[in-house]
Amino acid sequence: MDGGSGLNRHQRPRAARQRRYSIRDFHVDTAGVFSIGVLTSLNITALILTNEGIAATLIDWLARIEQTRPLCACCDFIFTREVPPTLWLIAQAVGNPAARGAMLMGACEDCCVRYPTNGTLIAAAAEQLKRGAWPDLRLLDPAHFGAGGRA
Ligand SMILES: [Zn+2]
Repeated sequence: MDGGSGLNRHQRPRAARQRRYSIRDFHVDTAGVFSIGVLTSLNITALILTNEGIAATLIDWLARIEQTRPLCACCDFIFTREVPPTLWLIAQAVGNPAARGAMLMGACEDCCVRYPTNGTLIAAAAEQLKRGAWPDLRLLDPAHFGAGGRA
């Protein structure tokens, strides 16, 4: 017996969990303040194994790649199943542990060469976001980026 709702976590409706997490949700969750880090395949694997939310976001991103035709975070390159991102950029809430989501963006091979450090790649992605969906985007100090570096 428990004194709570009477439902355990397996019995609660799953609709909320199954609804697609949108950019709008991300913006609300983060209050518009988030950090962007660069992930290699090695550290994205570690994240997938330890963070169910990020794993779901990545799987969804890849599963819908042919429908959504996602652009490179820094240029107009369109990813496909045959040519997925070389590196990933991940945007996560800063100072809000309750924020549940993350936003993933891919970087193409050319941009990874053109912007050879995490800092230059993030700056290029931020400029691209400012030109498009996020005109009021502001970057936090890079000291807050804890997502790891490139090999
Ligand atoms: Zn690119």
